[in-house]
Amino acid sequence: MPYSEDEDDMTKTLRPGVQTGEDYLTLLAACKDGGYALPAVNIVGTNSINAVLETAAKAKSDVIVQMSNGGARFYAGEGAPDAHRARVLGATSAAQHVHLLAAEYGVCVIMHTDHANKKLVPWVEGLIEQSEAHFKRTGKPLFSSHMLDLSAEPLEQNLDVCARVLKRMAPMGMSLEIELGVTGGEEDGIGHELGEGDADADNAHLYTQPKDVLQAYDRLNDIGHFTVAASFGNVHGVYAPGNVKLRPEILKNSQKLVSEVRGGGDKPLNLVFHGGSGTATNLIREAVSYGVFKMNIDTDLQFAFAHAIAAQVDANPKAFKYQVDPDNAKPYKKLYDPRVWLRAGELGIIARLEEAIADLGSAGKTLAKA
Ligand SMILES: [Zn+2]
Repeated sequence: MPYSEDEDDMTKTLRPGVQTGEDYLTLLAACKDGGYALPAVNIVGTNSINAVLETAAKAKSDVIVQMSNGGARFYAGEGAPDAHRARVLGATSAAQHVHLLAAEYGVCVIMHTDHANKKLVPWVEGLIEQSEAHFKRTGKPLFSSHMLDLSAEPLEQNLDVCARVLKRMAPMGMSLEIELGVTGGEEDGIGHELGEGDADADNAHLYTQPKDVLQAYDRLNDIGHFTVAASFGNVHGVYAPGNVKLRPEILKNSQKLVSEVRGGGDKPLNLVFHGGSGTATNLIREAVSYGVFKMNIDTDLQFAFAHAIAAQVDANPKAFKYQVDPDNAKPYKKLYDPRVWLRAGELGIIARLEEAIADLGSAGKTLAKA
């Protein structure tokens, strides 16, 4: 039994920990049925992973832990000699850390990797190989899902590669997130800078066409489970407001077209919101109401981490310059101990992530069995 169904309130519950296969689908369905979405947090080390798990436990929210290729490389160590192997091993190590600890925090976690463009397809394939080995040992893949961002390629080529990769993931119950249309901004070198001409609202290339979403649905739906990051004027990172107009109705129109042509209820698509940092709460809520189950949040949490550490340094400047105070011989070990200022950074992440969880409506909604 992957999950139990409570006779009294019909609430489905899951075993706490990393969710894959049928359990992953149960979690997604609960988000869409319940009108809430999960934060997808880019982590780069155990500090950020543990802060995310701690927040999820505190807020009783399920959560998505994800890594970019750069984050994975950093996790393995910037000094690791082979960059490709470091990306694969770093993400594998992070996933193993999450597998070991997620259940301990009592929440459900989706283990995911973030944007991979054409040249990073071998990174994702290296991780699928790790999942295949894990699947042989445990009956579960190491990752719940991966993301391919081939939105810079022509649509046919984007979908060809996605279909090939999904075919390999589907037997393990893994899901693939794809990207259609162009999200502005920069994500570890992947994405598209906003050019001079982009500062107006009718930049067609910043908005996904619903007919492209239908084409993706037709290509992938029979192969396995997939989710769609559609561009509706969203931007990676935080830029001065007002350059691009957010049009979440693009998500509604995509759901409507696929529903009318192929059925599957009024929200047949599982949608993902990229570039969520800095977005107004009302627009987040509107996007979630159209079937968004996941919102990426990276930039705002990077700032929250740095900002909290900066406050620690500002409050105790001498402790970061001297082991012992040159004027009064006071020892500063208790303040420069990395556990003190890294913990301050973790608390910064926790406070900001709690806000995101409130915006997304996922607080108190964990499916994890108590
Ligand atoms: Zn994106």
